[in-house]
Amino acid sequence: MPSEIEITELLSLLRDTQEQIAYFKELGVEGIEKKPPLSDVSVTTRTAAYESEPPLAESSHHQGAGISTNANPVAAVAQEAPAQERATSLPPATLFGDLTPPPVRIQKSSESFEEIWTDVGDCTRCPLHKNRTNIVHTEGNRKARLMFVGEAPGADEDAQARPFVGRAGQLLTKIIEAIGLKREEVLIGNVNRCRPPANRPPTPEEASMCKPFLLREIAAVQPEVIVVLGNTAMRNLLDIKQGITRVRGQFQDYHGVKVMPTFHPAYLLRDPSKKKETWEDLKKVRDYLDTNPRRES
Ligand code: URA
Repeated sequence: MPSEIEITELLSLLRDTQEQIAYFKELGVEGIEKKPPLSDVSVTTRTAAYESEPPLAESSHHQGAGISTNANPVAAVAQEAPAQERATSLPPATLFGDLTPPPVRIQKSSESFEEIWTDVGDCTRCPLHKNRTNIVHTEGNRKARLMFVGEAPGADEDAQARPFVGRAGQLLTKIIEAIGLKREEVLIGNVNRCRPPANRPPTPEEASMCKPFLLREIAAVQPEVIVVLGNTAMRNLLDIKQGITRVRGQFQDYHGVKVMPTFHPAYLLRDPSKKKETWEDLKKVRDYLDTNPRRES
């Protein structure tokens, strides 16, 4: 005969299980399996063309005003061979074996986010400042192993001064939870910190003004994996001309940090059939983090 305590525990376990099942159903998972696929959630979208925008010209020669290249540890290593080249080129077959230099790691910086944000200040470096309500800084765990990078704030983010809090953000939170993490455990940021008018993608010039602050945050945290969400984020972090559809799901390198390109959640809201692919990409991230012990900082 089970005791009263055992019955209470069993009931609590049952309630937890029911909540978990309800949660996976919301994501569209058809059966309970160990590694559930994301599927359909019918919701509409932010208007920016996350998947089919024209290639961005990478303008690394344009740094945001007030940031010296030398003060930026990532900018210093960003002069090295393009990430894509390093990630995909085969070692030369020489008498001496593999002479390919190992990827140049980002130098760990001791800057705090507060110091970086002080430099951002009441930014007027690019025209996006004219329409913003709030600057939206990166948020989350500053010791995170995993970081998500999006494009730029939308209306909800602009109003609340927090990244990914609108409908796309809610889907992103579900995706994070589907790989067994809490939103607070990861880091979430954007290439640009001010909302572009009508949610259009930031121009390469606008991105080049704001991106150095993101790179400084990356250098301060040194996440082990960065998930870039959509074309704008991918092309701003990696030297890649192909579109997200071609590159998604394949780990890339950003100065020693693994980068997983995947679809932007706003695109998934527009085309829910792409959630399956996103889930495949995120499983690779989960498996990488699960099979590699936390790196010592
Ligand atoms: N889309 C983005 O790229 N970033 C946000 O913070 C919200 C929506």
